[in-house]
Amino acid sequence: MEEIPFGERGSERVPFFIMKIKGIFPLKWLGINAIVLYPFVLYADRKLTPHLLKHEEIHLQQIKRYGVRRFYTRYLLEYLENRKRGMSHDQAYREISFEKEAYAHQSDKKYQVS
Ligand SMILES: [Zn+2]
Repeated sequence: MEEIPFGERGSERVPFFIMKIKGIFPLKWLGINAIVLYPFVLYADRKLTPHLLKHEEIHLQQIKRYGVRRFYTRYLLEYLENRKRGMSHDQAYREISFEKEAYAHQSDKKYQVS
């Protein structure tokens, strides 16, 4: 496990750390390239692409806006609601409001969660 202090970024000034996970952690098995476990961004990919980094940065800003507990509670509840409505795992994940916002704006370097 490699730890890179990433410092404070952008106007939101959200401090976080990026950790590269090798081997044991089953991110890849779950089809996950990166995950925010505040204040850490864990990633399985060899390269953390700019889009993926921006995607995770948007989640960090969402966490700052909603608070850690509210963010993860709402994230999980929305996922479970989507599953209950008959969506597949991938669909249910993509339809989470936090994910929709992150995917919609991950190509925009300047995007800030308002
Ligand atoms: Zn995401």
